[in-house]
Amino acid sequence: MSQLLDGKMVSGKVLDRVAQEVASMAKPPTLAVILVGDDPASQVYVGNKKKACERVGIVSQEHLLSADAGQAALLALVQQLNTDPDVNGILCQMPLPSGYDYDEQALCRAISPARDVDVFHPENVGKLMLGEPELLPCTPGGVLELLDDAGIDLAGKHVVVIGRSNIVGKPIAILALQRNATVTICHSRTRNLAEITRQADVLVAAVGRLHFVTPDMVRNGAVVVDVGINRLEGRKVRGDVDFDAVAPKCSWITPVPGGVGPMTISVLMKNTLAAALLQMRS
Ligand code: NAD
Repeated sequence: MSQLLDGKMVSGKVLDRVAQEVASMAKPPTLAVILVGDDPASQVYVGNKKKACERVGIVSQEHLLSADAGQAALLALVQQLNTDPDVNGILCQMPLPSGYDYDEQALCRAISPARDVDVFHPENVGKLMLGEPELLPCTPGGVLELLDDAGIDLAGKHVVVIGRSNIVGKPIAILALQRNATVTICHSRTRNLAEITRQADVLVAAVGRLHFVTPDMVRNGAVVVDVGINRLEGRKVRGDVDFDAVAPKCSWITPVPGGVGPMTISVLMKNTLAAALLQMRS
């Protein structure tokens, strides 16, 4: 029978550690969150980040721009936050509204690397590649926290990641490699996917397709980490893994909701604290 990798519980532990450290600081860190437009899902994400800040004692600033504010206004706001001595972390909720001339890559380059708590700036991505990251990208870092909490050592294991995005698939693969795993990255052009995923000691699904991972794709005793978020009708959310069918084959598995999702926010809080401490030392 499988055991749950419980993101709610582990993220609570991470948040408690952050809160303890924040409480000992003369001045709490500040996170500036930019939201462009009024996408309801983005509003929920920003609201959750604000709640997490409140829980750990980090000051949160919300900067709201209308959907048609434009790239120049967005970059001007980022420049202002980059030089504001009270701000330690900056993030802009993605995706930016479609139908306008926003350039997400230019935005990622505009946020000062020292305040880039999402770890999207090329300088921080480069440091991650070199194995010298100061901060870990939030979702991939959250996956590591979950595995660490369960005592799952990646050294020598075959980690198969389905998905090669810059924010999830690739950085998870890099972090697993740095933990001495043997890593395979699968994607939309991979042939014989199930044949490869069946070789995984640890299978990470980051595809964005409901119940994409079925029992025939999973080896008995594998660890399965489901990063996917797929919205059903109403507010229900499910993962990329067909949980009920796959769980009986696993040693460990993340639920959705309550798995990787809560970890992402707790690593964001950890990063904001770490950014503030690094800025104090520099
Ligand atoms: P993305 O769309 O950028 O990437 C999806 C990846 O899946 C691509 O690399 C693609 O090659 C691969 N893929 C698509 N079809 C495939 C197929 N048939 N076979 C194999 N691979 C295939 O998405 P993303 O930003 O990497 O996010 C992935 C999922 O993770 C989404 O559901 C997203 O909502 C979720 N997500 C969750 C969190 C969290 O906090 N839990 C954070 C970020 C993203």
